[in-house]
Amino acid sequence: MEQKIPYKIYLEESDIPRQWYNMRADMKNKPAPLLNPGTLQPLSAEELAPVFCEELVQQELDDTTPYIDIPEEILGFYKMYRPSPLMRAYRLEEALGTPAKIYYKFEGNNTSGSHKLNSAIAQAYYAKKQGLMGVTTETGAGQWGTALSMACAYFGLDCKVYMVKVSYEQKPFRREVMRTYGASVTPSPSDTTNVGQKILAEHPNTTGSLGCAISEAVEVATTNEGYRYVLGSVLSQVVLHQSVIGLETKAAFDKIGQKPDIIIGCAGGGSNLGGLIAPFMGQKLRDEADYRIVAVEPASCPSFTRGRYAYDFCDTGMICPLAKMYTLGSSFIPSPNHAGGLRFHGMSTILSQLYDDKLMEAVAVEQTSVFDAATQFARIEGILPAPESSHAIRVAIDEALKCKETGEDKTILFGLTGTGYFDMVAYEKYNDGVMDDYIPTDEDLAPGFAALPKV
Ligand SMILES: *Cc1c(COP(=O)(O)O)cnc(C)c1O
Repeated sequence: MEQKIPYKIYLEESDIPRQWYNMRADMKNKPAPLLNPGTLQPLSAEELAPVFCEELVQQELDDTTPYIDIPEEILGFYKMYRPSPLMRAYRLEEALGTPAKIYYKFEGNNTSGSHKLNSAIAQAYYAKKQGLMGVTTETGAGQWGTALSMACAYFGLDCKVYMVKVSYEQKPFRREVMRTYGASVTPSPSDTTNVGQKILAEHPNTTGSLGCAISEAVEVATTNEGYRYVLGSVLSQVVLHQSVIGLETKAAFDKIGQKPDIIIGCAGGGSNLGGLIAPFMGQKLRDEADYRIVAVEPASCPSFTRGRYAYDFCDTGMICPLAKMYTLGSSFIPSPNHAGGLRFHGMSTILSQLYDDKLMEAVAVEQTSVFDAATQFARIEGILPAPESSHAIRVAIDEALKCKETGEDKTILFGLTGTGYFDMVAYEKYNDGVMDDYIPTDEDLAPGFAALPKV
């Protein structure tokens, strides 16, 4: 008889990967380089050095080294909450009545409540190693700011977070978690920066935007000695750090002698999905194995499914490098969606190239159906999922239901990136039946495409 696979497939502490895997090394078509927005030439390490930490710049530009050692200090921190469990969703399978086998990798088991800590601790470590005083960043809903403040507390670094004003006022709990870990949190736009003062003079009543908060954080990093700017998604260095998710997942599957057929993850800037798929995509790129890989995005912010593959700014302030990615245009502002972490207009350059090469697929899903899945999952599996993660749950359930129709017993893996305890306003809207599902029309998308930089 086949040995029964446990609910939780735990690895040992000694199974935490000691190296990150850099998918770019195995890509035949490399992601397009970041460009200097002034000269339109590929950015050099020297040009990036005033903004980002030295070693992170090296990782950002490294398209060739397949494995990069994880420093002991970072491993020491990873040991506080890793390896994260790979779960077999027996109860969900039974409730759906599907012959499919469903697994999920749960990254919400740390105080920050998401996978973002995996990169936050790496970025804080390299800042500390370089002898910096501190780092600056922006945060929208607050997951990244929370993760970074935990990481900075661990290494004794100052952490200045610019938080979109509307979130600062409406989401006081994440703000207070950040302050508890010692970060200073400033509502953006603020009068502490030139760019903030300028925006406030023009739009005194603005509630802020992520693009504006980025501009403020970058200004503070570049005008204060001993500070650099750090970012929690989109960049290739972040995808690299997140590969720890996929490497552990693959090790756990190897341990039980199984392999996934379909790998599903939500995609905001692409970091958790890029991390989850990394070793599997590596096998696919080297023609060693094949997997179906599916990115899930909100229908309100459909970067992959309706975006253009073009050079664009990463911020609305147009000060950051140009990246070639699937984008809706840096001026596109998605309709309010409760999955704050999925509201970015662009996508990781690595995933964009993989998608363009048809090595992965993408689907867009509507908000109410995402919360249907979130609620179903919470009641059956017990974990209250983050709205972002619930996008992946939606599609995993849909795929499992397809298997029910066809009778196929496929193995489905999805990334459960975090918990939703700080997203109860979104759940409240859903429970009250007042959640909206606005999908942008082609007319809504046109101005964002028209404003793409001509490269
Ligand atoms: C930020 C976030 C995401 C989306 O970011 P990616 O870079 O696309 O992974 C997904 N889930 C959670 C819980 C997040 O906090």
